[in-house]
Amino acid sequence: MSDGARKPWTSPSRLSTFRECPRKYRFQHVEKLPTKPSPHMDLGSNVHAALRDWFRLPRAERTWDRMLELYRAAWRMNMPAFRARSRDELREFGERGKEMLRRFVAETPADLEPVAIEKWVGLDFGDLEVKGKVDRVDLLPDGSLRVVDYKTGKFPRVPEQVRTDDLAAAVYAGGASRDFVGAPVGEIEYLYLAGMERLTFPVDEAWRAERERSIGELARTVRAAEESDTFPPTPTKLCAWCDFLRDCPAGQGFLDARGARR
Ligand code: SF4
Repeated sequence: MSDGARKPWTSPSRLSTFRECPRKYRFQHVEKLPTKPSPHMDLGSNVHAALRDWFRLPRAERTWDRMLELYRAAWRMNMPAFRARSRDELREFGERGKEMLRRFVAETPADLEPVAIEKWVGLDFGDLEVKGKVDRVDLLPDGSLRVVDYKTGKFPRVPEQVRTDDLAAAVYAGGASRDFVGAPVGEIEYLYLAGMERLTFPVDEAWRAERERSIGELARTVRAAEESDTFPPTPTKLCAWCDFLRDCPAGQGFLDARGARR
């Protein structure tokens, strides 16, 4: 690779799409077919934007009024899913996010000073990188780091599965450790904003090494699939929610065979 050339990279979310269904990955990331706008995505993006901008304010200005201002500004800039929806739906989703932020402001210590907000971090596998954006990094009293990932969806029914399945956490943990030299990531915190519920787990070396190895393997599998243009469909009941079902005979056949509505 020549000096200054960018190394190929991918993200945990792209890897997770491939893991779910390689054909879906092809539709989305190779053919780049558009995905349907989603009200939940709009809500998530706007809550994240408000939190990001709020923490960028000087600490004395981090009030509820400023949060509300930032949240409303985020909605004015970003609401693609609501172009074809009613004002009542827009209001309902807007209120949902407002309640999350209200609780966040009320329950977050006023002296919290993150060491990073929306920071790109990545794992380097030599010939390629896997990069993701961490929502927040805090410095813990023992000098280690806490990586915080905000969630606007529901708290998981099987919390322990998040630790074993989630691809982003290991990228965040490894990437943040490398970026903040000398300060290891001590814990990952998934913060489910609707109820301010925390799913926190410690980062140990064994977990990190195992996750990094499997992420590297998956990233190389995706590269090989791209090079050979091999993306077999792996239909499941999730096909019913796939944005590309109309273009996918395998998914349609799978659902039809089960009499599943679509
Ligand atoms: S409809 Fe199902 S099989 Fe087809 S791309 Fe989507 S997830 Fe894959």
